[in-house]
Amino acid sequence: MIFQSKALREGTLCGARTAGTRRTIRMDETDRTYMQAALEEASKAYAVGEVPIGAVVVHRGEIIGRGHNRRETWKDPTAHAEILAIQEACRRLGGWRLTESTLYVTIEPCAMCAGAIVLARIPRLVYGAKDPKAGAVDSVFDLVRRKELNHRVDVTSGVLEEECRAVIQRFFRELRSRD
Ligand SMILES: [Zn+2]
Repeated sequence: MIFQSKALREGTLCGARTAGTRRTIRMDETDRTYMQAALEEASKAYAVGEVPIGAVVVHRGEIIGRGHNRRETWKDPTAHAEILAIQEACRRLGGWRLTESTLYVTIEPCAMCAGAIVLARIPRLVYGAKDPKAGAVDSVFDLVRRKELNHRVDVTSGVLEEECRAVIQRFFRELRSRD
């Protein structure tokens, strides 16, 4: 019981939307582990001067796709972390349906990436911090839970929210200080 309440407290601290069941807590710890892997991807983007967003695709407990933002490096507006992670996962599985996978991304997906998540039939999305300017899951639009579409996504938000936001805030603070 002591363990349970401690885990619950940590769940509250990291801002994850969880119910107070033991099963949910274990899932929450797993979510944080994979979000940490997405944060490592974000660090790779940060290191090369890209907006630091990272993503991983997890299939049956294994990371099968990783990606970080490469828009500037590749001069490609579609080179977002989620797209690259989805592409790698599809190559690994040899198909375009990721029906047993969860996508973890540090920042709320944009409209393009939310669309790709639906097209790839990904059943679950976990993201860290909201993007109030372009988020297409909760902030500006909701493209992943639309009744009109034949695929809807289960969403968990706020996992390692502070860490995910901190890396991107640091990036833009440094960018402004260079101007
Ligand atoms: Zn995107």
